[in-house]
Amino acid sequence: MQPWSSVSVPQVQGTPRPLRLHDTATGEVRPVAPGPLARMYVCGITPYDATHLGHAATYLAFDLVHRIWLDNGHDVHYVQNVTDIDDPLLERAERDNDDWMVLGMRETALFREDMEALRVLPPQDFIGAVEAMPEIIEAVGKLLASGAAYRADDPEYPDIYYRHDATGRFGYESNYSAADMDRFFAERGGDPERPGKEHPLDALLWRAARPGEPSWDSELGPGRPGWHLECSVIALNRLRMGFDVQGGGSDLAFPHHEYSAAHAEALTGQHPFARHYCHAGMVGLDGEKMSKSKGNLVFVSRLRGDRVDPMAVRLALLDGHYRADRSWTADALTAGSARLARWGSAVALPAGPSADEAIAGLRDRLSDDLDTERALLAVDAWVDAALSGGGSDESAPGAVRDAVDALLGVRL
Ligand code: ZN
Repeated sequence: MQPWSSVSVPQVQGTPRPLRLHDTATGEVRPVAPGPLARMYVCGITPYDATHLGHAATYLAFDLVHRIWLDNGHDVHYVQNVTDIDDPLLERAERDNDDWMVLGMRETALFREDMEALRVLPPQDFIGAVEAMPEIIEAVGKLLASGAAYRADDPEYPDIYYRHDATGRFGYESNYSAADMDRFFAERGGDPERPGKEHPLDALLWRAARPGEPSWDSELGPGRPGWHLECSVIALNRLRMGFDVQGGGSDLAFPHHEYSAAHAEALTGQHPFARHYCHAGMVGLDGEKMSKSKGNLVFVSRLRGDRVDPMAVRLALLDGHYRADRSWTADALTAGSARLARWGSAVALPAGPSADEAIAGLRDRLSDDLDTERALLAVDAWVDAALSGGGSDESAPGAVRDAVDALLGVRL
């Protein structure tokens, strides 16, 4: 698929800081330490609905990782998928009497616009499950041949399942208890009760064609892929094993990232799939969980339609730690808008105090597990001093403007 358009990233004066990031597998904040080419995979959308602020917050967090790597002189290979065939898409299309493919194309187009408006740097590879189908089919065949997968004992629908313990490392990514695994597997798209499976936690790799459902012909028989394998294969074939960061929302830690890693490790016999598994918290609305069932999703496109400046949305979402579960409120947006206006006024001044301390503070905070709340305060301190008439450094406003653009992605 065509990714969205990129934006230029200015150079920042001073000395970059290497990134330290929380890793779910080890439970530690530790150096990411990529090579000259930093490699990241972030799970993409299932395009049955518009981008809400929870999605936006996740993609903003990993956009900061991207930007810090660029500041440190790395080239970045960023890959993101689009789950353009899966149950939620088919269910929504059926409910709305829509064509699943048209629905997927429409929502993917809207997602691209939202990402552009928020100035999220695009992935180099933006890959739909449908376009990766030959790669996925090949991988299922390999897993079957190696014994890591089997056909369900069901002559009518001989779906192919992954033996969850095939690598002997199952659970290392999320570190969830057996009870939590059972619960989240059931809640998040798994099928523990499916007759014909060897074990409740075995995960679907290939769903044999059902009447009325789209399917793809293959040597496995006609069918369509399971979600976890899609991400394994798209990442593996572009980034190879041991890439630097696997990212997504915290609801992907299990089962999705656990199985994506297990599938890839079973396919290659290598470990680990990713060197860091990094998860962003959930965004609620006014203290409640934002969810489809509650009907309280706040969409980026709706805010754009209401002429909210996307840079104010960006600042509002960055004013909270990416790992924390947070709440979106009208006050948060008002504060983001006010901050954007103040920062804009300050960088438009002919001179200000030296930018060195603010830029160093910005880098220090961001490189410490993306501490955006305190990074914003480092800029606020310079802005406050500049607006109260302090300083005569004529290069400072431009230097702060460039640093805020490059590192926070906020164009003033
Ligand atoms: Zn994924």
